[in-house]
Amino acid sequence: MDVVKSSWGVADIENQSSRGLSQETVKMLICRSQDAKKHAYCPYSKFRVGAALLTLDNSVITGCNVENACYNLGVCAERNALSKAVSEGYRSFKAIAIASDFCDQFISPCGGCRQFMREFGSKWEVYLTKTDGSYKKMTVDELLPDSFGPEDLTMKKSDRYS
Ligand SMILES: [Zn+2]
Repeated sequence: MDVVKSSWGVADIENQSSRGLSQETVKMLICRSQDAKKHAYCPYSKFRVGAALLTLDNSVITGCNVENACYNLGVCAERNALSKAVSEGYRSFKAIAIASDFCDQFISPCGGCRQFMREFGSKWEVYLTKTDGSYKKMTVDELLPDSFGPEDLTMKKSDRYS
């Protein structure tokens, strides 16, 4: 994982040498997640979250959290973005940026969203951000190690139920 303490303009040597996205692309994706956050519907928690997904063909699909008077029906920004993307035909992703109103700590996806991301691979990048645009880069695998995914359903099982 890379931790970047600086804000936008400062070069991040670790990232430049990695196989990841360009600084320009990361900045764009984080900006899009911050824009998406403005649409958050969170009258109960007052906790705004935005997410921006970068697809394999470099399309950006955004999402925000959407709460409900029946609290447990609320949906996270990350899952909204992923569901929007899948419904538009995308299933391969390079990265997702997540924005909240945290200024002193990086926003981190909930367990449910980690599993939801994992459905579409474990090697892609997740940018956890603060309001100043600084970020911590992780992979889905780092956020959800030893995970259960679609491939596991095809693994050899005991024949007890066959
Ligand atoms: Zn979540």
